[in-house]
Amino acid sequence: MKIGFVGLGNMGAPMAANLAAAGHEVAGYDPVASAPEGVAMAESAAAAASGAEVVITMLPNGSILRAVAREIIPAMKKGAVLADCSTVDVQSAREVAAEAEEAGLLSVDAPVSGGVTGAAAGTLTFMVGGSEEAFQRVAPLFDIMGQKAVHCGAAGAGQAAKICNNMILGVTMIATCEAFALADKLGLDRQKMYDVVSTSSGYSWTMNAYTPAPGVGAKSPADNGYKPGFASELMLKDLRLSQQAAEAVDADTPMGAVATALYEQFVEREGGAGTDFSAMLPRFEARSRSGPTGG
Ligand code: NAD
Repeated sequence: MKIGFVGLGNMGAPMAANLAAAGHEVAGYDPVASAPEGVAMAESAAAAASGAEVVITMLPNGSILRAVAREIIPAMKKGAVLADCSTVDVQSAREVAAEAEEAGLLSVDAPVSGGVTGAAAGTLTFMVGGSEEAFQRVAPLFDIMGQKAVHCGAAGAGQAAKICNNMILGVTMIATCEAFALADKLGLDRQKMYDVVSTSSGYSWTMNAYTPAPGVGAKSPADNGYKPGFASELMLKDLRLSQQAAEAVDADTPMGAVATALYEQFVEREGGAGTDFSAMLPRFEARSRSGPTGG
């Protein structure tokens, strides 16, 4: 298949390389990044998109996606599919889908989970919004870049699924970290705490598969000095998207709101930027109920 790939950063580069390695003809564009293996670089996003059967975008946010979409949609051939894999707000996803449809194109919003390691290994999960026809057309590419693709519904449904999942993730990580910090102060050994909770009703993905305590439970960024992994600022981005979506539809999400406020404080005022989102544990460790304990 002839594929255009726009946005070749941490996620986009290995995804594009996997498509090329599977034998597809991939034309890439990124104003900064260099060519991933097997990808021929184009001079502009429009040039990468022109003549392609599928154009994939993997960009930082909704406003950049909207700008790039304005550039590539007129360059795409009728009947081609625009597949946006970035994590963006539901509104931007729906606007881009409407513009694509108006131009005689198919489109899907298809954000991913699985992070940089999943992108490199080709084991991402895709959450997909759009028509059945569009989904079927891109599904073979999802099979190369990932291990699972769920068709969630109409345009925007993929982003909705991603935002809801990551709101649960942020809330659960905070709950897991504050419980470890409480256990410390109660004199409960972290390993014992893990042994109990990971097989009791408090278990979760954050406890069992991404344990935020170094040397305990699953191997995770906690065992590597809290180097990301999934950076705290990306968690904050997704939590903000969840609150923006909740406001737009008047949904009551008090836990999501608290998680957003805590990650905001952590990232913007407490030096959490550049650390894994599980570094909430050392943050709680260094605090009392009234604030930081110093030292
Ligand atoms: P990144 O910043 O590494 O990559 C984004 C790329 O887009 C950069 O290379 C940048 O140069 C390029 N770009 C910016 N403006 C552009 C433009 N106008 N035209 C073309 N390219 C442009 O980010 P990433 O980690 O690859 O994440 C991409 C998306 O995937 C984000 O929406 C992110 O939320 C989502 N995501 C990331 C992860 C992760 O673990 N990194 C996991 C799941 C989802």
